[in-house]
Amino acid sequence: MTKQAWQTDIDFDKGGKQTGFIRLPYSGHDDAWGVVPVPIAVISNGQGPTVILQGGNHGDEYEGPIILGEIVRDLDPGSISGRLIIVPAINLPAVNAGQRVSPIDGLNFNRTFPGDPLGSPTMQLSSLVNDFLFPMAHAFVDLHSGGSSLSIIPSAIIDPSDDPALNGKFENAAAAFDAPMTVIISNRGDPRTSTASAVRAGLVTVGTELGGAGTVSPDAVRICRKGVHNLLRHFGLMEGSPTRTDSRFPESVYELTARAHHLSEDDGVFEPLHNLGAEVRAGQAAGRVHFLSDPRRAPKQLNFATDGILYGLRHPGRVRAGNCCMVVASRCPA
Ligand code: CA
Repeated sequence: MTKQAWQTDIDFDKGGKQTGFIRLPYSGHDDAWGVVPVPIAVISNGQGPTVILQGGNHGDEYEGPIILGEIVRDLDPGSISGRLIIVPAINLPAVNAGQRVSPIDGLNFNRTFPGDPLGSPTMQLSSLVNDFLFPMAHAFVDLHSGGSSLSIIPSAIIDPSDDPALNGKFENAAAAFDAPMTVIISNRGDPRTSTASAVRAGLVTVGTELGGAGTVSPDAVRICRKGVHNLLRHFGLMEGSPTRTDSRFPESVYELTARAHHLSEDDGVFEPLHNLGAEVRAGQAAGRVHFLSDPRRAPKQLNFATDGILYGLRHPGRVRAGNCCMVVASRCPA
């Protein structure tokens, strides 16, 4: 493999707590020999599995980075057996901008895997995770929220594998996270996400969706804090059993089918007819797209394409043709 351009002072084989940065060379207009300093912590003690905790995949999803920061500051290395690699703000330029994509190269980190060690900054970051971090680890946790465009019911996410044994491990980890829902999401089969890549690498992989709308939700922060600590117990890094207060597993396991995503066909203003969490039926009126500049024109009605729970709801009122307005999660066949 071509040598990478990034550098770090972190020694991944050393015990105790180390905090520092992955320094990605980036020479923009106003900076001759500058770097993008991506924060990283390694907390290690004795024997046990290696778990990667990632936040800031999208820069406008805040619960994960907040909780991972808490863990970096507060976790006593003596309280774990194993190694935690914590990257709270992996796509730092996007996190600092509060944007889904990096303002440096315009890329969505979660569509760049396996990345390129000598590519643009976002491509280098996905290569760092894929080629350097994944081979060290047994498990991978990717903490997302809904981002600026969607509100989503707090949930643990399973990115499915072709291997039934691995899928069983994903289900157990998602149950341990103890979110109100667990949702199987294949991202329409896209192989370029960090969880799809972790699954291909054979890591026990669990994602999240926690609130959204570009805001910080107190409920989602609480669920994230409990969920991450539950996963540390589940993976055997901490003693004790996961606390189960929010999920009704396995009754709460859903999936996003090919009919889950409801897109606008027009430019306009989207009016949802149901609140997040509503039980909905295929064929039922779901929402309307209004044309405010021409009141003579009747709104366009959108109908639900599948039965399920209204799982994701667009946050901004303005929509363009092709925007995702609603996501319906369907109950998994028993
Ligand atoms: Ca996301």
